Amino acid sequence: TVSVALFTSDLRVHDNPVLRAAVRDADAVVPLFVRDRGIHRAGFDVPNRRAFLADCLVDLDEALRRRGGRLVVRDGDVVAAARAVAVETGARSLHVAGGVSGYATHRESGLRTALAAVGCTLHVHDAVVTAVAPGRVVPAGRDHYAVFTPYLRRWEEAGVRGTLAAPRAVRLPDGVESGPLPGRAEVAGVSPGLAGGGESAGRRLLSSWLHGPLAEYESGHDDLAGDATSRLSPHLHFGSLSAAEVINRARERGGPGADAFVRQLAWRDFHHQVLAARPDAAREDYRTRHDRWRSDADEIEAWRAGRTGYPLVDAAMRQLAYEGWMHNRGRMLVAGFLTKTLYADWRVGARHFLDLLVDGDVANNQLNWQWMAGTGTDTRPHRVLNPVVQGKRFDPHGAYVRRWVPELTELADGEIHEPWKITGSRRAAIDYPDPLVGLAEARARFERARGLD
Ligand code: FAD
Repeated sequence: TVSVALFTSDLRVHDNPVLRAAVRDADAVVPLFVRDRGIHRAGFDVPNRRAFLADCLVDLDEALRRRGGRLVVRDGDVVAAARAVAVETGARSLHVAGGVSGYATHRESGLRTALAAVGCTLHVHDAVVTAVAPGRVVPAGRDHYAVFTPYLRRWEEAGVRGTLAAPRAVRLPDGVESGPLPGRAEVAGVSPGLAGGGESAGRRLLSSWLHGPLAEYESGHDDLAGDATSRLSPHLHFGSLSAAEVINRARERGGPGADAFVRQLAWRDFHHQVLAARPDAAREDYRTRHDRWRSDADEIEAWRAGRTGYPLVDAAMRQLAYEGWMHNRGRMLVAGFLTKTLYADWRVGARHFLDLLVDGDVANNQLNWQWMAGTGTDTRPHRVLNPVVQGKRFDPHGAYVRRWVPELTELADGEIHEPWKITGSRRAAIDYPDPLVGLAEARARFERARGLD
């Protein structure tokens, strides 16, 4: 008998319920990945994520080869490709992870119908992409939680499943054809500082994180210059690490750092359960506030380029361009700045993030953007983050700004977050723009537009 393990956002051999079930289910397994044309058409196939994905696929192929198998790669429509593999190999079952986006749900129903027609049963596995499956914890009378704290309580009670070992052997059926497996070197337009992908790299990163900085996470996670967060997000996005395993291993370490870190992973599940219940929140306001967003092309371009005249905003935007990743505190600040200070539509910013972020993810990105724009699940939708105050608090010596905005390197710690206060020849020597807009003026404009004044 033959089964198919269709990899999607679970590019790993460790703690993978999809691969485990496919191996148990049959004598031979086709580990299948489809370079899905639909993802390309939807604009999700951007260079940074394509490069990280290439690393993941090469690494997954190596892990499968060590177990006697290999990765079978196809191009095209995922449903048609999966059906073709089922027909070629006579597979009776296909295993896949349950997804939450509208796209994943659509893929699942397409697979169900197409496979049934060729005598192959679809098995959808929960808690593969998230640690706790969306829908597993729901408030009475509703289909999802809109507030994090009660969600967290129930999420903790529900518990995370135990970690599964990687299968020892993966036996491939004879004669399965596979397409090429291009490496990241073949991807153009990648951010120069992009991290390497793949399960092996992810597992090394996880181990060093758990045995090092995790202990200081509670106090250090907002220190922009300290860069003291895990940077596991791209691995979680592609599933080269399993959220359940990361949580189980962090809990084994224990302590306040581990508790704070696990709480952040609960945020990831929280946003996934919102999106699963409200797939339209990827595009539409979760809570419509009838904002009359401004759309000033020059301002938006200055924001994208990291030339707003606000050093902390610019530093974070330049980190995004260079690394394809940005610190969470930076993401909050630049998203708040775009949507509340420039009062531009959150969708403009979310799209730019998705164009560059290596961890760019519909659930986390769109819902965090909505949170910052005040259209989402935020309980303080009118709060405006001030880049000067944030700078003094989370980058008190300006080290993060100096790292990304070299024009300002020579400024003293006390000046670096307010370069417009410098005058005369010193100001003239710095090639750095004046602020796009005054903060007090922008705040008054936002409050007027929201009807708060
Ligand atoms: P750590 O601080 O080490 O946290 C561990 C893990 O917890 C992260 O890897 C992530 O999986 C999860 N996590 C942490 N914070 C959040 C959060 N606020 N929401 C959901 N999950 C969280 N995260 C993405 O994975 N993809 C995105 O596309 C994305 N877009 C964002 C857009 C905006 C405007 C904002 C404010 C946040 C966004 N985030 C996104 C959440 C968060 O910024 C990143 O997950 C985090 O910065 C990744 O770095 P890390 O792995 O070092 O995080």
